[in-house]
Amino acid sequence: KASNLHGYAPICLGLEDFYIRRLYLRIQDCFGRPIASAPDAWFDVVERISNDYNKTLKRTTKICRCLNLGSYNYLGFAAADEYCTPRAIESLKKFSPSTCSARVDGGTTTLHTELEEYVANFVGKPAAIVFGMGYVTNSAILPVLIGKGGLIISDSLNHNSIVNGARGSGATVRVFLHNTPSHLEKVLREQIAEGQPRTHRPWKKIIVVVEGIYSMEGELCKLPEIVAICKKYKAYVYLDEAHSIGAVGKTGRGVCELLGVDTADVDIMMGTFTKSFGSCGGYIAGSKELIQYLKYTCPAHLYATSISPPSAQQIISAIKVILGEDGSSRGAQKLARIRENSNFFRSELQKMGFEVLGDNDSPVMPIMLYNPAKIPAFSRECLKQNVAVVTVAFPATPLLLARARICISAAHTREDLLKALEVISRVGDLVGIKYFPAEPKKQ
Ligand code: PMP
Repeated sequence: KASNLHGYAPICLGLEDFYIRRLYLRIQDCFGRPIASAPDAWFDVVERISNDYNKTLKRTTKICRCLNLGSYNYLGFAAADEYCTPRAIESLKKFSPSTCSARVDGGTTTLHTELEEYVANFVGKPAAIVFGMGYVTNSAILPVLIGKGGLIISDSLNHNSIVNGARGSGATVRVFLHNTPSHLEKVLREQIAEGQPRTHRPWKKIIVVVEGIYSMEGELCKLPEIVAICKKYKAYVYLDEAHSIGAVGKTGRGVCELLGVDTADVDIMMGTFTKSFGSCGGYIAGSKELIQYLKYTCPAHLYATSISPPSAQQIISAIKVILGEDGSSRGAQKLARIRENSNFFRSELQKMGFEVLGDNDSPVMPIMLYNPAKIPAFSRECLKQNVAVVTVAFPATPLLLARARICISAAHTREDLLKALEVISRVGDLVGIKYFPAEPKKQ
């Protein structure tokens, strides 16, 4: 049923799902409290984030300093950076915090054009357009790219911004089983015959939408297979790289680089600046004609205030560091570090007996809790020991597939990771989520 409803997130919008939601709110934790109202289990307000990758949480009962295992700050650029921060401050003085204008009404500064050139060059496409928000990049662009008479084929676990964009486009939406190329082909085959020219098909246009790394699964997209199928059936590929751009690939250029896919085979490359670049906003990169078309027609470009200049400068500076254009090797070190940290943490968790989803090299690491009642218990016990984790549950995941979602950063030190592993292991025993036998420790 979930697959017909285009992902799990929109399930909460259906009528019967309204009852699932109500049921969910009644589920109690192991202490008999409804899980949605366990004040000591969640961190609500962050008071301060420090450079040593801790954040100070202002919690209902007290203020505590915790090791941060939940942030998307994959390369550590979101804390003060010796190259990025002074430049972002300079741009704040030069251009002010906001342009207070849409791109076409005086909201395009030299930073905006420079940013678009840098992004296009970085992701390997002829041109790019940037927006003030990653979510809006998906939800506002899809309706411009496709409409009534078009077909969107979307991975069943795509992000809510894609789901909303697809729904808002007016196109017909079909869903294929998460990251399953054979099912994508089956869905395509139901719609069109193999080799049928675009002009002789019942659809004006077909777009297949996938993500580079799935944020709730930690899985890498099976992009080479998906691209081959799309070529065979002449469908466009739309790739959301929110979690993969900057985070994976030898030079940080995302899943195409990691999996050896030619960027020319991905028609629309989308990504956000809120993860690896430690900033705000999103981008679309593609052919010059596509980007020109978007600049003339996309309401989010024509009518929304442009991305803030300090945020733009932060992204440009972060890309320069990644490419080594700052004159140091910090970028390469960060990339090596995030890979090393991710692979170390994942394998240690697996050795302890946890069920960890996702692939090697992915910094996103969901630890399965399954039972929703274990969510507040896991979160609370970690917080008690000064480790802040994000737990995710329905409607972001199916009801009985609750998980803790760890995000690893290049800025985590080995000591941070060892401390986190110690705490998670203790909490895992307490909450009962080590579903596999632990590997014996080497002497
Ligand atoms: N796409 C994906 C796959 C995401 O995970 C997210 C948010 N984490 C977005 C888009 C939206 O990005 P932003 O938070 O930058 O608005």
